[in-house]
Parts: sequence; structure tokens; C-alpha cells
Amino acid sequence: MANYNFITSSGKEIPVIINTKRGLRNITLRPKVDEPHRIEISRPWLSTDSAALRFMEQKRRWLERIFANAPQKRHLVSGDVLEIFGTSVKVVFCSTVRSNKIENQPDGTRILFVGGDERLLESRVRMFIKQELMHQIKDLIHKTPRDFWPKRICLRDTTSRWGSCSSTGTMSFSWRLAFAPFDVMRYVVMHELAHTKHMDHSQAFWATVRELYGFGIERAKRWLVQNGGKLHEYL
Ligand SMILES: [Zn+2]
Repeated sequence: MANYNFITSSGKEIPVIINTKRGLRNITLRPKVDEPHRIEISRPWLSTDSAALRFMEQKRRWLERIFANAPQKRHLVSGDVLEIFGTSVKVVFCSTVRSNKIENQPDGTRILFVGGDERLLESRVRMFIKQELMHQIKDLIHKTPRDFWPKRICLRDTTSRWGSCSSTGTMSFSWRLAFAPFDVMRYVVMHELAHTKHMDHSQAFWATVRELYGFGIERAKRWLVQNGGKLHEYL
């Protein structure tokens, strides 16, 4: 598959992914404004990539408007430092790295090396962070008594809630908790675990949270209220 870019009038390069589909009559364009921004084009088997690109050009004004109105995030570039899991981690792109990993440097800094296609840096970092967070959440849960354990855990990108617990036993967490201090993330996990016993926020519920989390619940809650918005800044 060839690589194409859509270059906006402000100079932003948006990757274009062209797929062919049997039985398709027309070229369809799908601008994607979630990260990473991209344009997905499906074209009929018998047409050509250049016909698809010409069609995209005809829709330029519409596409430009869509990407100009997309929610603004700070774009992550190689060399940026992220606060993840309570520590500073520098993200470094290195095309030869095979599996993304954090390495401790002799000078004490921590570097997340990310390989592959540099245009996919953000999505790779996001994937790495989610995997790592899932790991840590499971670790924390496995240290609690078994009757608190959920049936299933999933990560979401919600702006309204840090965690939720369904009556069917699925526990959901915002993956952005990875950008919070470790104890704040731990608080949200323990809060949801306590909901497996109490579906309300009664005194009995808070007593269970305290049992699971220990002291400092108020501090963790306050941190989320004061800093929660910042967890959506990147990626
Ligand atoms: Zn709750």
C-alpha cells in the first residue's frame, strides 16, 4: 500500500489510507478526527488510487474544515516528557526499536523508546501506556481479596468518569489515569472495587474504600478535582 498525505493549507500532514473494496460503487471518504488524525478512503476495485486522491482534492474545503474544528491536543513529538505512573518518562523515537519499552538511563532518566513509523508515534505511545496501565490495575486488584475482583476490566477514554462498575461485573477505567500519580490511580481502582460490595456512596461504602486503600483518600480525591482536566492534554 502506498503512503499518501493530505496537506492542509496550514501545512499539517494528514496520512491518507486507501483501501479497495469489491462490490463498492463509489469512492467514500472518511476523515477521522480521533488520534491520530487520518483520512480513510475506500475505492472500488476497478478504480485507481489517483482517482481516489482526485476525489479527495475535490472535497478539500470540507476536509480542511473538519480537521480545523477537531479538538486541539498537544501533539506528542520525540523528545517530549510525559508524566506517567507518577514518573517522568521521555519519549524517544528510534526507527530500529522493535518493541516499545521504558529503559532506565545511567543518569536516572527514564526513556520510552518507540519504533516503527514515526507518524504513528502517538498511537504507539497510547497503546503502550494502556497496556502498562492494564498491567498495573490487574496487579493492584490481585492484591485484594478475591471476592472484590471484577469479571472483566476495560479501559475507556471518558471525560466524565475515572472509573465505573457495572452490575454485570465489568469495571471500566479511564486510561488517562496513567497520567496521574500512582496513588491517585490506585484510589480510583479501590473505589470501584468497593462498589462490588456497595453500589452506593454510603458510609459502609467509604469504610470499604478505606479498608482497601488505607489513609489519604481525601488527598487523592482532591488531586483529581484539581488536576483531572490536565490528564486529557496529551494524546
Ligand atoms: Zn463511586
